[in-house]
Amino acid sequence: MSKKPEPNPGVLKIIAYVPGKSAAPDGIKLAKLSSNESPLGPSQNAVNSLGQVIQNLHEYPDPTARQLREAIAETHGLNPDNIVCGAGSDELLSLIANAYLSKGDEAVYSQHGFLMYPIIISATGAKAVVAREIDCVANVDAILSCIGERTKIVFLANPNNPTGTYLPIEEVRRLHAALPSNVVLVIDAAYAEYVQRNDYESGIELVSGNDNVIMTRTFSKIYGLAALRIGWAYASAGIIDVLNRIRGPFNVNSSAIIAGAAAMRDSFHVQSAIAHNNKWLPWVSNELTKIGLKVTPSVGNFILIHFPDNKRSAEAADIALTKQGYILRAVTGYGFPNALRMTIGNEEENIAVVKILTGFMKGELA
Ligand SMILES: *Cc1c(COP(=O)(O)O)cnc(C)c1O
Repeated sequence: MSKKPEPNPGVLKIIAYVPGKSAAPDGIKLAKLSSNESPLGPSQNAVNSLGQVIQNLHEYPDPTARQLREAIAETHGLNPDNIVCGAGSDELLSLIANAYLSKGDEAVYSQHGFLMYPIIISATGAKAVVAREIDCVANVDAILSCIGERTKIVFLANPNNPTGTYLPIEEVRRLHAALPSNVVLVIDAAYAEYVQRNDYESGIELVSGNDNVIMTRTFSKIYGLAALRIGWAYASAGIIDVLNRIRGPFNVNSSAIIAGAAAMRDSFHVQSAIAHNNKWLPWVSNELTKIGLKVTPSVGNFILIHFPDNKRSAEAADIALTKQGYILRAVTGYGFPNALRMTIGNEEENIAVVKILTGFMKGELA
């Protein structure tokens, strides 16, 4: 018998990432609240900048994404040499895993952490080690108890998706201080812009003083540019050099470079998205709590809604919402079989979801 091609060990054990659903029943208007996209859409400046790209589609993009890195560096007060851009932060997370993990190594992530972590860890042949959480919050002591001789990376989403919870910067510092210096701490700060807490920091300061910390950020969430696939990582020169060696030379396309730079400079648009979230995140959380649902306190642009019992289950609520075009995110794969994650939408969508779930909790909807 002829032999079959064999992928890396671990690859066939991976459960493929299931993106949020994006279809409503025929004839019903879709309200997609399943992927944490921005209800405000993209910056108009970013959209307008795309005209320039159309004229030059025959040209390869700038392999260094210089304009984009400079816009990021200026906005955040960083050195552009310490930034590398990617096709979404997902690509950067994969590059990090590929650069630092081999078969036999281990990488740690948190119990309800972002599900791309076990996928990218397993794809390298390394072992994904899960640290327990307490009340849906990552736990520094539990993470530290998972660190062994083979540990090479700790992935921490801060804030985390799908829980919406976060670790104060002092806890992140405590975690970093206790890690061996050869272990890379990856702080995935995809929702950093939304957080309104004095004890939160995205990780920039921690990167600046250390050789083993990487912060990743994305243009897919508050910047409203998910379709263009843009992410960036900030790290020491040594780590940036490693990532530049293994990334594709044209991994960030020309539209992403130009529109990303314009979006980064449009601080008014970002402020509007923050203001919208500051209004609606507490409103939706409170309204759902009033009708007897448990909502995990969130600092992001989404909430995790826990359903009470088998009769009023997440699955039944999902069916009731979907019938009317409201698509939330099932989170069974994250260890929450009786919860749904809802992205904070526009005014109309938020009010409608509360109304549908109010009826659902009263047993008015099947
Ligand atoms: C959405 C998300 C990302 C991925 O963002 P892209 O830049 O679109 O790849 C990364 N991490 C977390 C925690 C996310 O929720």
